[in-house]
Amino acid sequence: MEYDRALRMEIMNGYLSDTRERFENINKVYFDNRIPDIMLRISDRLLSRIGYAHSNPLGIVLSYRYMDKYGWEVMDEVLKHEVAHIYAFHFYGERGHRGHNFRSACEMMNVSPTARTNELFVERDKWHYRCRACGQTYSTYRPFSTVQFCDCGEKSDERMLIKITKDQMTIPLQEFRAHIRPKITVYKCTQCGREVRRYKRWSEKHSCAICHPGEYDESCLMQLVK
Ligand SMILES: [Zn+2]
Ligand SMILES: [Zn+2]
Ligand SMILES: [Zn+2]
Repeated sequence: MEYDRALRMEIMNGYLSDTRERFENINKVYFDNRIPDIMLRISDRLLSRIGYAHSNPLGIVLSYRYMDKYGWEVMDEVLKHEVAHIYAFHFYGERGHRGHNFRSACEMMNVSPTARTNELFVERDKWHYRCRACGQTYSTYRPFSTVQFCDCGEKSDERMLIKITKDQMTIPLQEFRAHIRPKITVYKCTQCGREVRRYKRWSEKHSCAICHPGEYDESCLMQLVK
């Protein structure tokens, strides 16, 4: 753990000094060194965006995760786009993506002036599920917790949605049925016998919601059957 952290810090510091060097170069090549010294940061918490610029104090934050994933081949464009924001704001008070000076700075550096640039490469994780009966797939940004059923017919084991990988979305239905086993966990109440089926195990103990609605009761724990 300690080692991982130390290693990550080292990598982040490396990215940061690259970023500083690149910023200085962009400032020199495109702006005659007129942009003042700004704050530069690499964040390992920034996941929703690839990078952004801020105005008070002036600075740019780039996402460690996306830096790690795409390298400078992609991040160079992101950095330039953010530098254009800094320039347009500092000299002309422009914010956002419509300003004339922002746009011409982007054009000069040959990078995209759209807001989408920052999100272009950010793929959010998706979860995929597939029906064994009809083969239809479902994708969602939030994973299901309890078992869901396809709407192709009556709720049944056959129509239970099976969690799959992206590749398994397109394999032929016959093959899918033959090879992909549903991986679900089943809990059962020892008192009333009620079953709960989930895609993931609970991380903590649960008691039966029918026997003891709205409260946790040690005497009525849901037991893992499968
Ligand atoms: Zn932008
Ligand atoms: Zn179906
Ligand atoms: Zn019960």
